[in-house]
Amino acid sequence: MNYLKQYGTRRVPQWLPLRGQVPNSAGGHAWAIDVWTRLRRFLILGSEGGSYYASEWTLTRENAQAVEQAVAEDGLRAVAEIVRVSREGRAPKNDPALFALALAAGAADEATRKAALEALPQVARTGTHLFQFATFVQEFRGWGRALRRAVGRWYASKSPDALAYQAVKYRRRAGVTHRDLLRLAHPAARVGAGNPTLDVSHEHARLFEWIVRGGDTAGLPRIVEGFARAQESATARYTASLVREYGLPREALRPEHLTSPEVWDALLGDMPMTALIRNLATMTRVGVIAPGSDGTIRAVAQLGDAERIRAARVHPIALLAALRTYASGRGVRGRGVWAPVRELVDALDAAFYAAFGNVEPAGTRLLLALDVSGSMGMGSVAGVPGLTPRDASAALALVTAATEERYEIVGFFAGGGTDAALPMLYARALEGEVDTFVIYTDSETWAGDIHPVQALHEYRRASGIDARLVVVGMVSNGFSIADPGDPGMLDVVGFDTATPQLISDFARGAL
Ligand code: CA
Repeated sequence: MNYLKQYGTRRVPQWLPLRGQVPNSAGGHAWAIDVWTRLRRFLILGSEGGSYYASEWTLTRENAQAVEQAVAEDGLRAVAEIVRVSREGRAPKNDPALFALALAAGAADEATRKAALEALPQVARTGTHLFQFATFVQEFRGWGRALRRAVGRWYASKSPDALAYQAVKYRRRAGVTHRDLLRLAHPAARVGAGNPTLDVSHEHARLFEWIVRGGDTAGLPRIVEGFARAQESATARYTASLVREYGLPREALRPEHLTSPEVWDALLGDMPMTALIRNLATMTRVGVIAPGSDGTIRAVAQLGDAERIRAARVHPIALLAALRTYASGRGVRGRGVWAPVRELVDALDAAFYAAFGNVEPAGTRLLLALDVSGSMGMGSVAGVPGLTPRDASAALALVTAATEERYEIVGFFAGGGTDAALPMLYARALEGEVDTFVIYTDSETWAGDIHPVQALHEYRRASGIDARLVVVGMVSNGFSIADPGDPGMLDVVGFDTATPQLISDFARGAL
């Protein structure tokens, strides 16, 4: 179809492809994104919950293939990308990074396998991460010597105090425990064997011994003693005193004491930021958080500490999910009801914006265009129940709106269809002045008689403005309406914490 090459002047309906395009899932056409953008979409958006067009299982399989492709193309680059996204806390969940790292650890290329195993402590930072990695890695490779040693190194690289905390806080996930992994890796046995590569201190060796066999806590890090006493505690009051004395986390306590306001009051004194966000509803139910209460004042002060939020790498999605659940007054899985406290709803809302860091405004004219078609109302972003791509894009657009002065927000759909050319056609019809179009979409466009990029070219010609286009991908699929050959167009991933700054940099011409 030679005439399609002249798409600069000839309008092509979306049911026909432009040169280089592929069919999308909706009967229209778009560009296939490159393997690295695909990897980043998966790392950040995940495939949990599926999408309008694909079940969770299909989307996961597609994404696994995309990760495999990236690993096959350049394994070391893939590992570096996994580490970067994970370490910088750019993704709402760490599971896709652990999955991708496990896949790389089973790659055909030896250098890639080695790099993946060396990166394990950087991507699996907590016991839960390590357990999850262990369940994934069994899908991709056997428990060979290299993997056992990598797991042994994970344990040996932590200080005894840090490891003791991990041992009492993260005790099991998906059926995996520290005992299982230590038995497989048995780093302690190497002390006697004189193996220099996995040499551990005697303090480590004793702690490993306790994790595997239990028993006497004398000489172990203090938190182990606190944990042992809490497991035997007969009353909530005594448990609360142990929490204060030893700085115990919730996971180290007996479940029947977790309905006590006294225990929660003690926990709130030294609660990590992520635990605070997850337990607001419980603390409200037990009455520690109530209008004007001391607990409310302390929780609001913590959430208002932007430095702490960024230092703890709390992802905005975690705050958005907490905000939605908390404000609704009922648990997602039907776990109880509570009366949301106004001050906390406001504090969560402010913390959501703070979690993106300080975004420098572009100062140019932006049209923030949200695809509100049917497909955007299905599936969930990053596996958060009820958080559809449509809701998530609205929240993300508000971050840019809070940063910029000259913007307009519009939602678009084409009467039962999806037409991502509409934002450009709208700006042209109204003779609006737009420097950058920001389109939040799944790129499943099909209903227009002109392609989005052609509409952009027409807008540029008619307005005399060399307008740019940012496509914010809200679903981890393989499509984009951005032309990869046009430097005035950019693909970014929705809910990457770096996205608002990327949009701003690109709109300013700094990319
Ligand atoms: Ca759609």
